Amino acid sequence: MLTAAGLSPKRSRGQNFLIDPNTTRRIVELARVEAGEHVIEVGPGLGALTRQLRDAGARVTAIEIDSALAALVAQTFHGDPMVRVINDDARSVDIAAVTGDEPARVVANLPYNVATPLLMDILAEAAQVRSVFVMVQAEVADRLAAPPGTSDVGGVSLKVAWYGNAEVIRRVPPTVFYPKPRVDSALVRIVRHPGAPRLGRPEPLFSLIEAGYKQRRKTLRRSLSAVCPTDVIESVGVDPGRRAETVTLQEWESLAAAL
Ligand code: SAM
Repeated sequence: MLTAAGLSPKRSRGQNFLIDPNTTRRIVELARVEAGEHVIEVGPGLGALTRQLRDAGARVTAIEIDSALAALVAQTFHGDPMVRVINDDARSVDIAAVTGDEPARVVANLPYNVATPLLMDILAEAAQVRSVFVMVQAEVADRLAAPPGTSDVGGVSLKVAWYGNAEVIRRVPPTVFYPKPRVDSALVRIVRHPGAPRLGRPEPLFSLIEAGYKQRRKTLRRSLSAVCPTDVIESVGVDPGRRAETVTLQEWESLAAAL
């Protein structure tokens, strides 16, 4: 299809296309897409996942940065009121405006180079996006969902946990893509916590987490010295001799509240 359209994959845009129909079908099943729901797909590429989402009855908004691919997908679904294509950089699209007041979900095989910042923007800004189900590099998926105390945990794990629950669903081998990526991929699901969605980037919570993880091998006494005095760390019952990677989200929140 790429060749027929006179195109070739661009690595700079994270273009690894799904070429295995069983995988695209399985993604939509695992995402539990329901008829009539609004699904935002970032990076439809050649439209393989878009097709499955559409066939599951979803109303799809597909955001594609590559003009040639956006035109191809728009042409494929021409006249279909269930598929809308936006030719733009998903990072500069106001996703909250795309959802309006209506609940939506993100289901996508994300471009790996922008996956994490894009997910963080969506969680921080798009209240109506209640959950995301995305393919990312396996290492990134592990990090997004890692609990404190594990080797994969990073500042981003804690930030994601503030918005919702993240879970790695399954690993996906390079063989289902063209071109084959050098690393494994994985499907990850993030579901917002129940109740009013948490939005924005809470401060000083996120700055504290960043300071702690910037020097994750150091004790909190040292890594947080510029942002949080030792007596404040002690005042919330956290041992300043611990390292950031052992601190739970609840403890980070207590520290932020005590500042
Ligand atoms: N969904 C297709 C599939 O599964 O075969 C393609 C997935 S491919 C990993 C990522 C897609 O995202 C590519 O089509 C690429 O052009 C597009 N893309 C890359 N950066 C983007 C951005 N910032 N905004 C929107 N689309 C982007």
